[in-house]
This record gives sequence, structure tokens and C-alpha cells, in this order.
Amino acid sequence: MNDMNDNHLPPQSFPCKECQAGVLRPTYVTYFTWLDEELITVPNFPAWVCDVCGRREYDERAVSWLATLLNPETGRPTRRPPRPHPQATKRDSSHPLTK
Ligand SMILES: [Zn+2]
Repeated sequence: MNDMNDNHLPPQSFPCKECQAGVLRPTYVTYFTWLDEELITVPNFPAWVCDVCGRREYDERAVSWLATLLNPETGRPTRRPPRPHPQATKRDSSHPLTK
């Protein structure tokens, strides 16, 4: 009789694609990104880090959330006059990364 509890757990780590020997483990890092001329640092950013080669992968949802937060104009091919935003689309009341 096997214990199948493991099947219900979300993946906490996965094999490294870079070195194929290490394991990427969830951790929190300081994320750096540029907003125009300004360097933005985001502490406690969710990421996975390989325990062998040190490869770092950021949480995709967190990255896209941050990109939206910092730069709502992302995806615009060329400069255009800024659009008015009559309605705020960000309704998040809980921002675990802002502290
Ligand atoms: Zn690795």
C-alpha cells in the first residue's frame, strides 16, 4: 500500500534545464528591472534558484504582475500620446511584494 499524499502537493522544485544536474528550489531574491532611466529593485521577489549552477528563474506570474504594475504601456510598438485611463484596472488590495 503506497502513500499517495505526494500527488496532491504542488511542485516545490523542478530539474534545472541549464545543468540538468541541479534542482531549482523556490526562494526569494531581489529583482532588478529598469523603468525608463530608473533602476527598480524589488526585494523578496519569488524565484527559483538552481542549487548546482545557480541558474535563476523568476516566477512568471510575478514578473508579468510587476511588468503591468510598473509599465502599463508595455506592448506599445511606438510612442503615442498617453491614453486616458478612466477606469483603474488594478484592483489588487493585497500586494505581498510591496513591503
Ligand atoms: Zn543548474
